[in-house]
Amino acid sequence: METKIIRMDENNIDYEMLEKAGAIIKAGGLVAFPTETVYGLGGDALNEESSGKIYRAKGRPSDNPLIVHICRLEAMFSIVKKVPDAAMKLAEAFWPGPLTIILNKSEKVPYATTGGLDTVAIRMPEHKVALAFIEASGGYIAAPSANTSGKPSPTLAKYVAEDMDGKIEMIIDGGEVGIGLESTIVDLTEEIPMILRPGYITKEMLERVLGEVKVDAAVLEDSSGKAPKAPGMKYRHYAPKGKLTIIAGNQEKVVGEINNRAAMMREKGEKVGIIGTDDTISLYRADSIKSAGRREDEESIARTLYKMLREFDDENVTVIYSEAFDETSENGGIGQAIMNRLLKAAGHHIESI
Ligand code: AMP
Ligand code: MG
Repeated sequence: METKIIRMDENNIDYEMLEKAGAIIKAGGLVAFPTETVYGLGGDALNEESSGKIYRAKGRPSDNPLIVHICRLEAMFSIVKKVPDAAMKLAEAFWPGPLTIILNKSEKVPYATTGGLDTVAIRMPEHKVALAFIEASGGYIAAPSANTSGKPSPTLAKYVAEDMDGKIEMIIDGGEVGIGLESTIVDLTEEIPMILRPGYITKEMLERVLGEVKVDAAVLEDSSGKAPKAPGMKYRHYAPKGKLTIIAGNQEKVVGEINNRAAMMREKGEKVGIIGTDDTISLYRADSIKSAGRREDEESIARTLYKMLREFDDENVTVIYSEAFDETSENGGIGQAIMNRLLKAAGHHIESI
């Protein structure tokens, strides 16, 4: 299959082209598109066969459910059994935006889309191209991140093309995404709302709207081996090809430790990459040294993380060391989301010194 790549700016939407993209979706095909979090791989959420194609294009296990993207609030009502007050409050506060809400699904949503679950994950993205594309496609787009299963999510269309070229009908290139980490997922089907995946919308932000909110234990722990609440949690995620280790502790010691290990690995013939910050990168010695930005600027770290991991892949780096980032969200930060992704990318290989 030839994959058509088209460029489209948020400020200059080509509605005619989006009609063509929408026609592909309506005919059961797949189109990758930009959102404010990461690129999505879209298919018709109400068509079983489209969901099957998404799983195949990604190489994703079919019990790992997809998120249904909508562009109007009314759409939520037809795909769930009941809309609880909490869902309305969250939609009002955070949609369009990087928040996914889980509710009990209606019969309209095929099990192929929800990975066999009776619940459905729903999000309204905050991206003009995404919203217009969903509208042109009939209003219900199932979309996981547009990467091969297991790899870091794409923050640029060129990474979508690397993974999806020849496998899908179209890629809409909207430039670099704004946030760079997947949406926060909150489950509203239990008595107390539960965060299944941390993201840009933090626990504190949700609590301001809902009152008490819990965080699933699997968010920062190694959950492989346990039966997870969200099926997707058990799979390896976001991983670069090189073996990634996170070194946590006092900054000076961390720099020394990473440099020692990097030197040893290079002697053994490994190609070594390091993730530091603006304060530390000049202190490192390795084959490829990248800065996540200023340590205080969590948004920049979030935006850069997957790109750095993808660049290490492009450079054939075989061993990677990363500094740890602050998980406490004292300033309502997204440090927890950043560490959640970094820990998964490292297969939970973290050492404190
Ligand atoms: P991705 O599409 O790659 O951003 O991942 C979507 C993730 O959303 C899955 O891996 C699940 O963890 C989660 N998810 C989607 N639907 C549900 C659901 N019905 N219940 C629980 N988690 C869900
Ligand atoms: Mg993903």
